[in-house]
Amino acid sequence: MLIELKISTKLREDLIDITDLVLEKIEQSGIKDGIAVIFVPHTTAAILINENSDPMVKKDILEYYKRNVPLDYNYYHVEGNSDAHIKSTLIGNNLTLIIENSKVILGSWQGIFFCEFDGPRIRKVYIKIIPG
Ligand code: ZN
Repeated sequence: MLIELKISTKLREDLIDITDLVLEKIEQSGIKDGIAVIFVPHTTAAILINENSDPMVKKDILEYYKRNVPLDYNYYHVEGNSDAHIKSTLIGNNLTLIIENSKVILGSWQGIFFCEFDGPRIRKVYIKIIPG
């Protein structure tokens, strides 16, 4: 079972909370126990799990990557978005979620964020559910 999500990002860089959307799609699948692999098929975007209770956490994460991987640097890649490729690589393009008793296991403070580093764009996220 493969689910495709479309996400319209609004800014060049943003962390977008997609927790509710992802959980809704997985729960709609009717799978009671198994694994959901979340995959981002882009080279300038990423996906992560972190706190979605205090919005300042997302701000601190974005600032951290901005500070450590600047937009302007003497990069070799001439497209002008090397910072976005590097940020995508550092965070990663997939997550594995555990589905147990029809629920996705997440810590009480955890949320799933789509990471945009070269927006705004229309992006895709795939969810592959493996019963087991
Ligand atoms: Zn590029």
